[in-house]
Amino acid sequence: MAVKEVFLVSPRGFCGGVVRAIDVVEECLQLFGAPVYVKHEIVHNKHVVNDLRQKGAIFVEEISEIPADAVAIYSAHGVSPSVRAEAKEKRLRTIDATCPLVTKIHLEVQRFAKEGNEIVYIGHKGHPEAVGVLGIRPDITQLVESVSDVQRLNVRDPKKLACLTQTTLSVDETMEIVQALQERFPKIQSPPAKDICYATTNRQEAIKEMAKRVQLVLVVGSKNSSNSNRLVETAKSQGIPAHLVDDASGILSEWLHGVERVGVSAGASAPEKFVQEVVQYFERQGATLQPLMVIDEHVKFAMPRELVQLKGKN
Ligand code: SF4
Repeated sequence: MAVKEVFLVSPRGFCGGVVRAIDVVEECLQLFGAPVYVKHEIVHNKHVVNDLRQKGAIFVEEISEIPADAVAIYSAHGVSPSVRAEAKEKRLRTIDATCPLVTKIHLEVQRFAKEGNEIVYIGHKGHPEAVGVLGIRPDITQLVESVSDVQRLNVRDPKKLACLTQTTLSVDETMEIVQALQERFPKIQSPPAKDICYATTNRQEAIKEMAKRVQLVLVVGSKNSSNSNRLVETAKSQGIPAHLVDDASGILSEWLHGVERVGVSAGASAPEKFVQEVVQYFERQGATLQPLMVIDEHVKFAMPRELVQLKGKN
């Protein structure tokens, strides 16, 4: 039995923050010439990173790896104040490609801190977005990753407590953690559904809708992409087997035994070119394409002000 239908869901793939971050690196390469340095992978996709590397971007994990006076770009995941301070000390010419929706959370940390709150941050330990947020006020911010972490929290004053989340979490799992927080700390502030970004939320909603129609879901995305992994989990939570592939070469024939209807989606950092390759893989075997529009999405972010100003001078 061969795959007969390939469902291609929308929205999928690049979000506004990823498009902006990639454009920032491309524009910096044009404006300043190679090399430009990028703190961490600009977005979590191996194809995007390899392409920019070939064009002259150098990806580093530490500011100490960047020569003084060089151009340094902060990735879409954001950085902590200590990174900014180190870059300033080194006189780096910094361009900030942090997604505006991550910046919004940085500002929320500052606002809650100013109002005298402690902060509970729901996120993944070690993820660069979480590292950036936790580094703003490490003295008053605690990370929780699960419901059981909530039971272990020690807080100073349960009436002065706020909750924020990483942008790329599972909406359903996060709600469970929030419920546990609200049960333990009824006065906790801020509904974090607002922090999980539109792109993450929409792609998870869309994949649930697609899961009703297919027997297997393939998500195009890289292993280190948080929102791509959450898409795989979302499909599995609907009882449908799901796998993450960087491109068509990652598809294993053993996944397809007895499967007639496959669904395809892509994480927010996965280029459409590789999604199309996956679709063509099935079309070549005789499958019919079934586009599935679940949510219409048109979000664009303005380029960083410092880059716009620099371009204006040239
Ligand atoms: Fe911004 Fe969401 Fe895209 Fe992350 S996934 S870059 S928070 S829009």
